[in-house]
Amino acid sequence: MTPTHKLTTLLAALTLATTPALTTPAHAATPPPATLATSGHPIDPRPDTAELTHHLHHLEKRSHGRIDVTEIGRTNQNRPIYNATLGTGPRRLLYITQQHGDEPLGTPAALEFLRHIGTGTTPWHHWIRSRLTIDIVVRANPDGSELDWRYNYGPHANPEYGHKGKGYDPNRYHAPDLHPDDNPVPESAAVQRTYAKTDPDIVVDYHMQGRYTDAHGREITASVMWPTHPDVDTEPTDLARQVSVAAANAMNASHPAANVSTYPGGNYRGIARNAYGLRGSGSVLIELSDIGPHAEQRQIRSALTAMTAIAQRFADGSLTRIDPRRANRIPPRGHPIPSDDRAPATGRADTLD
Ligand SMILES: [Zn+2]
Repeated sequence: MTPTHKLTTLLAALTLATTPALTTPAHAATPPPATLATSGHPIDPRPDTAELTHHLHHLEKRSHGRIDVTEIGRTNQNRPIYNATLGTGPRRLLYITQQHGDEPLGTPAALEFLRHIGTGTTPWHHWIRSRLTIDIVVRANPDGSELDWRYNYGPHANPEYGHKGKGYDPNRYHAPDLHPDDNPVPESAAVQRTYAKTDPDIVVDYHMQGRYTDAHGREITASVMWPTHPDVDTEPTDLARQVSVAAANAMNASHPAANVSTYPGGNYRGIARNAYGLRGSGSVLIELSDIGPHAEQRQIRSALTAMTAIAQRFADGSLTRIDPRRANRIPPRGHPIPSDDRAPATGRADTLD
């Protein structure tokens, strides 16, 4: 490095350090504060819906108006479905957690994300909130969560996608031509309405999967996928591939054991990943592996890291400079780990996504 370059670099660094709220171009991103995933206390992996309601309203109050919590629907057991909005920026993100009731860990990650991004007061926090508006449907399926099953609560339904006697699979009822008023699944209709209202650039849907290895026998800790429906345009697909790369890189860096693969999901248009891609958003699925109680804290933090990295990189512009072809380098998911009773493939389509 020449002295001139050094000086330029130093000046750039000083500028960044003093005016993060005003800098937006290429390398202007102030890194996330070191406190990101180290609040010190274990995070409750399974707050019940009453506790979730309390946490959300507490965060709303603590944020002095920076977080706005709204009820976007009611379940068949009359539980509230919440959307939390933060930020005032022009670029829009929509995060969704726990469409499948027994896939819980995206929800505590979302609460931590709201606490971190919504109540922080550093220049970085002000900067990111000025760049983005972020909506989070926190626990899209409260009934399924309370019942600890995948489906919504719909015991009288005989669904095409779901389980007779239990309910519908909420992640099959997002198709663009299914109007929310005609949607038999109130949870999916609530997400559809939030999508229509917020018109997000990026949608990220958090799920959980069983245990798998990669081709070398190393455990997969999370899997990502972009839309695979053939009618999704190139532009939203490329954006989703950029988001997938950003999420995979962030999660891989979050823990020494982290190992992210792609997800072998289906093409069905009612799956959120495909449906919101068909509607023009960069739409991504993230599946955290259900490794076991000993790994839950790091899995929650890994999800939180992905949420933060996607937001940071969308805000600073670096996300859309990722070569979408880099997604091809994310390795495929390998075989199930036989000791896990959830992982072996049953061959049923509704175990996907
Ligand atoms: Zn799922």
